[in-house]
Amino acid sequence: MIVRCGRCRTQVEVPGPGRYSCPACGTVMEVRDRAADPGLVTPPPPAPEPPPSPRVQCPECGLRFIVGAVASAPCPNCGALVSVPQRGAG
Ligand SMILES: [Zn+2]
Ligand SMILES: [Zn+2]
Repeated sequence: MIVRCGRCRTQVEVPGPGRYSCPACGTVMEVRDRAADPGLVTPPPPAPEPPPSPRVQCPECGLRFIVGAVASAPCPNCGALVSVPQRGAG
């Protein structure tokens, strides 16, 4: 990894974190590991998207609502029985 001397700006290649003296001016440089830097916090991975819920539209009132794995469900708005299209059948 390449570090730069804070005094004379000389770029020095070092094998890793540790204390090194600048070959140009002799200033001791303390090289810290970037991965172990507590200032860097990796954000948690995004939550996986939930599977799409089956949704039907009531032919009577036009309300769209989510239904379960059923053949038909009553509309929560007007009470009409709405048939649910089955996916993957056949
Ligand atoms: Zn230096
Ligand atoms: Zn309805």
